[in-house]
Amino acid sequence: MTPKKAATRTAGKKKTQHSTGRTAVSFSRETLRQKRTRAKQIDKRLAAAYPDARCTLNFKNPLELLVATILAAQCTDERVNLVTRKLFRKYRTAKAYAQAEAGIFEKDITSVGFFRNKTKSLLACGRLLLDRYSGKVPKTMEELLSLPGVGRKTANVILGNAFGIPGIVVDTHVGRLSRRLGLSDQGDPDKVEQDLMPLIPQNRWTIFSHLLVFHGRRICSARKPDCPNCLLRDLCPWAFGV
Ligand code: SF4
Repeated sequence: MTPKKAATRTAGKKKTQHSTGRTAVSFSRETLRQKRTRAKQIDKRLAAAYPDARCTLNFKNPLELLVATILAAQCTDERVNLVTRKLFRKYRTAKAYAQAEAGIFEKDITSVGFFRNKTKSLLACGRLLLDRYSGKVPKTMEELLSLPGVGRKTANVILGNAFGIPGIVVDTHVGRLSRRLGLSDQGDPDKVEQDLMPLIPQNRWTIFSHLLVFHGRRICSARKPDCPNCLLRDLCPWAFGV
């Protein structure tokens, strides 16, 4: 959809009215119901634009996704995928992680950054999975949060992508876009998640997170969002200077 703008935003100049009738004020006075409708439009447009949106970490089972997600903190998915290609051939079970030698494991993952802390988490994770969950990755938020190195973001990645249980994953892209799009005004990822949950139908939680990540990587970057070429510009308070 490319509605004509009544005014355009050029460098440093913000428009205040759009041909859709939307104005900066209309965003600030938005009711919850209107915000839900806008969130639905955002979801629909992004789904059409990114039909290939998905988890970009490579994995074949819940354990591999758990390991990849812990490794992905402060690291790109591409680099994690390079590391896990070999790692998953070497360590195939929770027991293998539990019994790994820390010094050797650190060398196996050294290129992902924060490898010492990640080694500690993953080896402890392996031990806990073995002791408490018969070596299997659990399927509930509460149980996942009991694992070392696992917060709500990682838990939601696993629930949504390994088990098909909906979860909103708030990473740096999802947090930034949620704030720019006026779907949350929170800085804390857990609070952003709470803000998004009532706006997005539950069966869309996982895919909506992927869609925001894809849009954040391609158009709405942290440093230079490409608002003039964004398919969400008439739905986005940021583009109106709000
Ligand atoms: S209009 Fe600009 S700020 Fe809003 S989502 Fe698009 S690129 Fe991001």
